[in-house]
Amino acid sequence: MERPFDAKVKSESELLALQLEGLKWTVRHAYYGSPAYRKKLDEAGVKPEDIKSLDDLRRLPFTTTQDLQEGYPFPLLSVPLEKVIRIHASSGTTGKRKVICYTRKDVEDWADMFARCYAYAGCTKEDRVQIAVGYGVWTAGWGFQNGCERFGAMAIPVGPGNIDMQCQFLEDFGSTVLCCTASMGLLMAEEIDRRGLRGKIKLRKIIFGSERSSDAMRRKISELSGVAYEELYDIPGMTELYGPGTGLDCQYHKGIHYWADYYILEVLNPETLEPCEPGEVGEMVVTTLRKEAVPLIRYRTRDLTRLIPEKCPCGSLMPMHDRILGRSDDMFIFRGVNIYPSHIDEILSKIEEVGSEYQIHLFRKEDGKDYMTLKVERAKDVQPSAEIDLKLKKLIEERIKNQILVSCDVEVVDYGTLPRSERKTKRVFDTRY
Ligand code: ZN
Repeated sequence: MERPFDAKVKSESELLALQLEGLKWTVRHAYYGSPAYRKKLDEAGVKPEDIKSLDDLRRLPFTTTQDLQEGYPFPLLSVPLEKVIRIHASSGTTGKRKVICYTRKDVEDWADMFARCYAYAGCTKEDRVQIAVGYGVWTAGWGFQNGCERFGAMAIPVGPGNIDMQCQFLEDFGSTVLCCTASMGLLMAEEIDRRGLRGKIKLRKIIFGSERSSDAMRRKISELSGVAYEELYDIPGMTELYGPGTGLDCQYHKGIHYWADYYILEVLNPETLEPCEPGEVGEMVVTTLRKEAVPLIRYRTRDLTRLIPEKCPCGSLMPMHDRILGRSDDMFIFRGVNIYPSHIDEILSKIEEVGSEYQIHLFRKEDGKDYMTLKVERAKDVQPSAEIDLKLKKLIEERIKNQILVSCDVEVVDYGTLPRSERKTKRVFDTRY
């Protein structure tokens, strides 16, 4: 399938050759452009000319969040400041913000990558794209906006929140594509349903950025908004690696195609830092191939995913990884077991009578032991009854016990009682320490 903005390579060997060329360029560029990188590479005993094959990637030292924080405000800058035309920063929930500089070429490359995402989502220039993510110092709004303009569809830059205006624009402008977080998608779908807009609007695709969405949440969004389930897409992305738009699941939804002509993705065991087997969950580690202002060399993202080795029916040469399955930082330890909220998500998603919203509460009682309570919403159409609640409680407790090997107490609450958010929904409440 020919897609606009797709990678220029015609075969896997061409892709690997392009990656090697990009890797050599990146190491040389970082070594001579950034004192911080030069120091790291010298300490690891690697010179740019040592990079002769893609296997030499493994000789390179890792880059971490700490490297970005230590270099604040312009960490790992590898070009003179006068070549920087823009900065973006992460929302900075932990420690200092991560600030990333961009050259003109970086901004252009990012727009090309993002335009490819719209192409893989099956958009055309006729589409009207309502962008309901934040515009500001973070990358979200700018990424969706520049990508949309580069692609050639009509951008409607609304920003997040403002549900009345969102609904009005869906009606008045006939928006066909909505870009938002999954949490915002759920809010919008509930509003579309509540206001009886389904027959009146032309929405046919939703692209989720920045937040992982569970299957249950996606099903709910599809059902309430009238957008087909297959037309819900996930865009992963992080500020350090340009921003959103570095990959997308195509219409077959076999995994997220990532743009391997712009970066190399390794999935490593976070403990041993050795490569995971295909299909095994580990930490995403990325190395950029043509990023100028702040190249990344084996940057540890803390995001967990797995490589999907199969070929996609769409025929794309771009390899695939799974949806982001959580952050290694989100992991919590409960009674000696490592648990990711995504585990719980997955279990709940398979039970029809529960909604997509849940909260995990962790606390310590006077007996010194840790306890977990899971608050779960009943699905919208399930009539509240003590009998059903008890049945659900038992079923969920049993599945968690069997699949995660811990005991928890489940509390079933009414549909719509857990807080929704326009950004990322907080799910873990840990009061143990
Ligand atoms: Zn595909």
